[in-house]
Amino acid sequence: MGELIYFDNNATTRPRPEVVEAMLPFLRQEYGNPSSVHMFGQRMRHEVELAREKVAGLIGARPREIVFTSGGTECINLAVRGVLKTQPQKRHVITSAVEHSAARKVCDLLGDEGYEVDELGVDQQGRLDVDELEARLREDTALVTVMQANNETGVLFHVERIADMCQCHGVALHVDAVQAAGKVPIDISKMPVHLLSISAHKFHGPKGVGALYIRRRTRVQPLILGGSQERDTRGGTENVPGIVGMGAAAELAARQEAGENDRVRSLRDRLEAGICASVPFAHVNGGEAQRICNTTNIGFEGLEAEAILILLSENGVCASSGAACSSGSLEPSHVLKAMKIDERIAHGAIRFSLSLFNTQEEVDRVVGMMPELLTRLTVLSRG
Ligand code: PLP
Repeated sequence: MGELIYFDNNATTRPRPEVVEAMLPFLRQEYGNPSSVHMFGQRMRHEVELAREKVAGLIGARPREIVFTSGGTECINLAVRGVLKTQPQKRHVITSAVEHSAARKVCDLLGDEGYEVDELGVDQQGRLDVDELEARLREDTALVTVMQANNETGVLFHVERIADMCQCHGVALHVDAVQAAGKVPIDISKMPVHLLSISAHKFHGPKGVGALYIRRRTRVQPLILGGSQERDTRGGTENVPGIVGMGAAAELAARQEAGENDRVRSLRDRLEAGICASVPFAHVNGGEAQRICNTTNIGFEGLEAEAILILLSENGVCASSGAACSSGSLEPSHVLKAMKIDERIAHGAIRFSLSLFNTQEEVDRVVGMMPELLTRLTVLSRG
């Protein structure tokens, strides 16, 4: 079978060796609590603050605007619920139909609690109509929450335009930038968002740690009550090794030359073109939209994604069928449904997501194995 080919980087990425090295002392001898007054604790405080500067640097924010959390999911929960709690008189929220399940479920719950949640559709390429968003803004709109890059298709929303528009209308905006960070430059100083979520394990950092950017003077009520950590916005002893790892990953991602992402993009394009050239029933979902560099979502018409994934896995290739959490269900993903992708294509949709650790040789191996693998499945599915 040979080496594992990991094309599932939107699920999680391999931590960079430098990240692991940076974390190790904090799993071993540097175990103090940053809230302790003694020097041992204060050393940890210093490291947490250094990491905060690095994470802020990745998105052009000020360190004081960064709140560490347990990951993207918590960031989204804190951003949405935390902001709404501060303006209880406003009961209207706008989101999109293709958000990650974290935002979707929070918004569903808001609906149950009596909020009016407007869910904007997307076109066949997964693009959001920003003018339609503007038309939905109202006096009582408390928040707009949208993603920057879609985790299933890689399609980018024009968050800069949305940010300007929300600013003009005085509406708070939360951007889920979990899949965008490290893949597209994010500069908060040029994009007037109020809140923005990122997660370390999507850019070669550790799992279980994320950061919520909260613009100065934006009020957010904490969801997790406890100590006064993170400026009273998120109680609980800080995950020092995770935070240090996130800082290291952010610093490396910020330094990563544009060339590195261009290389990933050309690998992705080679994979996409190679598969489409040899498999006539392959369709790229969202292929005409602007996308992040690493993601392609290819629908194999008439086949079942789960079966393709199993065969790929037997051949040492890790890919995914849409969002990790929807794997195992036979329902096509909500993202492809919102894009009105033909059911026969959506059922056979595979997401390949690459990273800087992938090579051209791996791409060529996968391109080479697809025709035979799919022929086997076609024969099997015809009984
Ligand atoms: N938002 C998007 C777009 C994601 O892709 C993910 C994870 O896949 C999340 C949020 C949740 O992040 P985490 O896994 O850190 O909770």
